[in-house]
Amino acid sequence: MVEDNKIIRKRILATREMNRIMAEYFYELDEAQKTGKQKVAWCTSVGPAEILRAMGFLVYFPENHGAMLGATRMATDLIPYANALGYSPEICSYLTSDVGAYVKGVTPLAIAYKGIEAVPRPDVLAYNTNQCRDVKDWLAWYSREFNVPILGITTHRGVTDVSKAHIDSVACQMEAMIEPLENISGTSFDIDELRRVLSLSRQCSDLWKKVLDTASAVPAPWTFFDGTIHMGPAVVLRGTQMAVDYYKLLLTELNERVENSEAAVEGEKFRLYWEGMPIWGRLRGNSELFSVNSACVVASTYCNSWIFSAFDPSNPFESMARAYTELFIVRSDKAKEEYIKKMLDFFKIDGIIFHDAKTCPNNSNNRYGMPRRLEEETAVPSLVINGDLNDMRCVSDEQLKTNIEAFIEQLEEKK
Ligand code: SF4
Repeated sequence: MVEDNKIIRKRILATREMNRIMAEYFYELDEAQKTGKQKVAWCTSVGPAEILRAMGFLVYFPENHGAMLGATRMATDLIPYANALGYSPEICSYLTSDVGAYVKGVTPLAIAYKGIEAVPRPDVLAYNTNQCRDVKDWLAWYSREFNVPILGITTHRGVTDVSKAHIDSVACQMEAMIEPLENISGTSFDIDELRRVLSLSRQCSDLWKKVLDTASAVPAPWTFFDGTIHMGPAVVLRGTQMAVDYYKLLLTELNERVENSEAAVEGEKFRLYWEGMPIWGRLRGNSELFSVNSACVVASTYCNSWIFSAFDPSNPFESMARAYTELFIVRSDKAKEEYIKKMLDFFKIDGIIFHDAKTCPNNSNNRYGMPRRLEEETAVPSLVINGDLNDMRCVSDEQLKTNIEAFIEQLEEKK
């Protein structure tokens, strides 16, 4: 193994601008919280954010807060507070760490942004079960706690071919949200405003896809670990000009790296695909572990989950229903395997890392034979690692290191 490789972390210059717009986003929410000038909606990360934004709400995403709790390593100590309320340690550790943070009265926002003391209080909570049931239970807890309305969409799951019936069902549920949202916001729904927001979301999505696709270059200009940080605006600011402008900036920088053959991982030898949730509390450690072994994790299903190519402002409800139902996490194993096969080709992948996240069965795709089926069909080997997104008690660093190094040796022999 290459133990003495120096790790050179290449700074992405656009990070400064990303930090600025993320700060602006959180301060705007905080201002709304303190002054009551603008209503706040909480929304699941692949939920109907465009509708909420078009109706004048500022939109806050608890999953983004969950990821911050994980990345700052605050999460593990907070999970027991939710367990004490009857929420099992086996369920989503975003949910348990976020509820735990609320109960304990702490937030990473207070550390990152001077003057912010708490997450913004919601006026309404909106979910889509397209990713899992946990998001609905999560927002339901806050609905009881704050005594505010909860609205949502129940999406079909395990879908192979997305049919008109699926789309109609979701589109109808989206349209049914409008009247209660009008009553909460005190404003009338304006279809042209929804088209405008959707158009910005679509631009953001297209640019985010181009950004991710730059990693198909050999060597790759950035890694999955960079992507998990830079996806922030695609999650919380889609539907705004700020997000569009940001991804133009980032894309220019990454394209320059590609033109100059600048590698994210010096001496890139192996190109890997990450399937499943990130291990938020180990982003840096994992990034370095792959790097010293000359392996670049170039792509992931996770970062690609905020690409919504079906958005069409001329047909807003139907196209949103399609985009939010065509997502990877909503689909059957058959559809997921077809998707991954295309990714393996496009990104020229040597091996796949399946992260089996203890508390997220919804986004752990190794459990029903997928790694073996994919390997038989593509000859691309895979490794299953056990861990979790936020509960670091489920992560063994030693085991992770041993398994990844052994996997890379296997790839070396294959080459
Ligand atoms: S998909 Fe997984 S990580 Fe995301 S909210 Fe659902 S259970 Fe939690």
